[in-house]
Amino acid sequence: MKQAKTILVVGGAGYIGSHMVGLLGELGVNVVVLDNLSSGHKDAVLHGQFVHGDIADRMLLDKVFSSHRFDAVMHFASFIQVGESVQDPAKYYQNNVVNTLNLLNSMCAHGVDKFIFSSTAAIFGEPQYWPIDESHPKNPINPYGWSKLMIEQALADYHQAYGLRSVCLRYFNAAGAHAEGLLAERHEPETHLIPLVLQAASGRRAQVSVFGRDYPTPDGSCVRDYIHVQDLAQAHWLAVQYLCDGGDSNVFNLGNSQGYSVQEVIEAARQVSLRPIKVVEGPRREGDPAVLVADSSKIKQLLGWQPVFADLKTMVQHAWQAEAKYCC
Ligand code: UDP
Repeated sequence: MKQAKTILVVGGAGYIGSHMVGLLGELGVNVVVLDNLSSGHKDAVLHGQFVHGDIADRMLLDKVFSSHRFDAVMHFASFIQVGESVQDPAKYYQNNVVNTLNLLNSMCAHGVDKFIFSSTAAIFGEPQYWPIDESHPKNPINPYGWSKLMIEQALADYHQAYGLRSVCLRYFNAAGAHAEGLLAERHEPETHLIPLVLQAASGRRAQVSVFGRDYPTPDGSCVRDYIHVQDLAQAHWLAVQYLCDGGDSNVFNLGNSQGYSVQEVIEAARQVSLRPIKVVEGPRREGDPAVLVADSSKIKQLLGWQPVFADLKTMVQHAWQAEAKYCC
């Protein structure tokens, strides 16, 4: 097996990127992190060389690619808020599409031919069935989902024309934090359910809203497939090894194939934190399908991926380690 020795992690100061950099550090891989710190945190980069900059900057990209011999690039630097993408699609198409193409073009110019792309369940749109496998129809219902699907298409074309091989990992709901408490989820503003619920538990937030109680699910709240951020990072490592071994371009859905409702997440947070959590009923959030659950059998079979922290309570526990220090 050929091992990747040097990897460029774009967006390595963010939530998932920083956990990836942590894993690569443990594996002894040389890492260069490129991040514009628009939402990441420099102190979350535990390993490697840090370059402050933007993938919109082609001169900077060319300089970075000229100074290192990268085996692969992992790309975590995108905007991720569905609602914001509806309000301001230009922001999403500019960064998630145009700037990503800038990165791919610079890679091609410098002969770097392996790419791991952070894609999303949002490319599927309203599920027609679940669990959602890789061949489920792709009908995004917001600009965020479209921006990711456009890059998936570009990657297929770049492979054909320029020999750039890629793996697209379609994340369902990334959750949790580093098991030993070294890293955490620190979005500003925070929009994700688990950190918001835990902030309500610690007292940093007065309450948490359940966005819709009238979905066709057992308790009426939305069901999502949560995947531990370290299991996600492990999947990226397997994907890069697969490409280094000569694997063809591929796409994989990535979740635990187990759905939990918003209500169940809140219950798990109560059990883990042993603190009261004030819950209020809110309206549905636009663009939220009732159920999103992944069929991840393909990545298990082809890459041998096995989640270590598949249990929701474990994910909440690891996230609580970081939040508990704010208890008031
Ligand atoms: N959600 C909620 N209240 C919140 C934030 C999220 O009820 O304050 C719900 C949201 O509607 C969705 C689920 O929690 O059904 C997960 O949302 P999140 O934003 O964490 O991830 P997404 O599914 O949008 O990727």
